[in-house]
Amino acid sequence: MELQVLECPYCRGNVRMDPDHGSEVCANCGKSIIVKEYGEMQSRILEDRRSSYEKVVQAKNLLEAKRNPLGRDGRIRELIDSAMALDSGSPDGWYLNAAFTMCESGRWDGTSDNMVSRARELEKNRKAKYFTYEDCMNVRKEAEQVTNRIGRGMSGVFALVTVFFGLFFLGIPAILYLAGIMPLFVVGIMAGMFAFMAIAVFFALRVSRIEV
Ligand SMILES: [Zn+2]
Repeated sequence: MELQVLECPYCRGNVRMDPDHGSEVCANCGKSIIVKEYGEMQSRILEDRRSSYEKVVQAKNLLEAKRNPLGRDGRIRELIDSAMALDSGSPDGWYLNAAFTMCESGRWDGTSDNMVSRARELEKNRKAKYFTYEDCMNVRKEAEQVTNRIGRGMSGVFALVTVFFGLFFLGIPAILYLAGIMPLFVVGIMAGMFAFMAIAVFFALRVSRIEV
């Protein structure tokens, strides 16, 4: 019997099928394919892939409908998890998962980076269609803009608190000193405490600042 080169139903790589063999192993993804069941298997996998894409699109629409992408959302998480379960080789699913994991945790980290690498790897065989790398980066940018706004708001509050304590720690004792009520060394101690506090606030702000 002649060898046939067919598309692997899992990864779309080429598999050489010998009709006399019981099963073949895909050299690309390592999954085993039962030769007799090839047709049936392929249509089942394509069906799963189709429902996985549907879930990706639903999750994407829900995510886009939100004004603020940050935060947990049980419906979106459920859609992503079932899309991934139906088709774990879908780059769309991995890109979407990377983006939404960032929305859930509030920051882009190694987990999302790994998911993007996985999606890029998978795209060598199958391009993302419904949730692409660009979609992923757009969600990331939008989420980072929101966290930066929150960061700037926090910086403003810190600055106000520092100014307030500055006046309280130094302004009032300085007036009392000038009025001859407060000795200079007490004003000096307060100035030292305020300097320490200002340095602590400065470093707290640097640590909490979100990089763009
Ligand atoms: Zn394969």
